[in-house]
Amino acid sequence: MCFGDCRYDLHLDALDNGRIRNFLKTAQADGPLLVVDSEIVRDNYLKFARALPDTRVFYAVKANPAPEILQLLADLGSCFDCASVVEIDMALATGVSPDRISFGNTIKKERDVAAAFSRGVRLFAVDCFEEVEKIERAAPGARVFCRILADGAGAEWPLSRKFGCVPEMAADVLEHAHRRGLVAYGVSFHVGSQQNNGAWDQALASAAEIFRECERRGISLAMVNLGGGFATRYLKDIPAVEAYGNSIFEALRAHFGNRIPETIIEPGRGMVGNAGVIEAEVILVSKKSQAEDEIRWVYLDIGKFGGLAETMDEAIRYPIRTAHDGEATSPCVLAGPTCDSADVMYEKNAYPLPISLSIGDKVLIEATGAYTTTYAAVAFNGFAPLASVVI
Ligand SMILES: *Cc1c(COP(=O)(O)O)cnc(C)c1O
Repeated sequence: MCFGDCRYDLHLDALDNGRIRNFLKTAQADGPLLVVDSEIVRDNYLKFARALPDTRVFYAVKANPAPEILQLLADLGSCFDCASVVEIDMALATGVSPDRISFGNTIKKERDVAAAFSRGVRLFAVDCFEEVEKIERAAPGARVFCRILADGAGAEWPLSRKFGCVPEMAADVLEHAHRRGLVAYGVSFHVGSQQNNGAWDQALASAAEIFRECERRGISLAMVNLGGGFATRYLKDIPAVEAYGNSIFEALRAHFGNRIPETIIEPGRGMVGNAGVIEAEVILVSKKSQAEDEIRWVYLDIGKFGGLAETMDEAIRYPIRTAHDGEATSPCVLAGPTCDSADVMYEKNAYPLPISLSIGDKVLIEATGAYTTTYAAVAFNGFAPLASVVI
């Protein structure tokens, strides 16, 4: 674990090139503002494309659906992983053809499946027999892939048991699809977001076993969807995209031999996380008693409901820059501005901030390009949703 002084050693791309700082000099935002640097998103896309040259990229739209980001990625050749009809329409608005869209949510209303099908989408996620039957009725003949559970070990934002079936059930689900005239296309998993280890190996072992089982039943699967999970650097160092690429490739070779299937990845956080910086303001710095060693509370104009939802359970620990960096620090409780007592971001693991930090100061919250703008309350307490610009 690295926080406190060592955070100053980190080079987080979004502030390295000066573009965001320059923009903020003249932006005069009245509330918190997310600024996303499109050059970094472009760089991230190219890194994925180079590290996994035979893998198609389906950007997970939910991570940041800003139209400029979707357009940039579409122009670079990306495909899109969408969770709803609204996200499908956002992707289509870039001009991509519907064969570059996957409806990757395993929990869909049948009429939304029909709406996607009528827009030309032909690739759907399933994780149970019931969902297969919805696809059969609303999207006849479409391709389906079966999501399997991955345990999420090694992930800082695990995805629990909500999505996917046990690997032993997948061949039955895919056979069910096959018998109902759908194309049993492949297997998917998500190893958990902000994944720091080689969890892909275990998941790929399961996927290969499902391929073999389907083969025995006369069904040849074509694709493995490797999901997301690629990390963004917050305060700890993370594996480079190249390292993920190598371990995925090795795992594919180990489990599929020379019959390597078609693969896709669905990066969300890894595509946009490090491209964004939120400028926020210190509303209050105070103490709960006059005791000498009493901890300081720092209240920002952004919190759990305004875009930093991933601080829930102190899961994601964002780097915070101030104009006083380099000066002496002391641990602080960091909280948001709303009247909900849950709106405290870091308390168990207090956050070191400069002692000279004071009311009215601006702070820069780094690596906030993913899961911020759309992960915010609409108007809780009257606070506006997080504003954002792409430069
Ligand atoms: C959220 C999600 C992703 C993106 O995950 P990251 O960890 O942000 O890369 C990819 N695929 C699916 C199906 C998802 O639900």
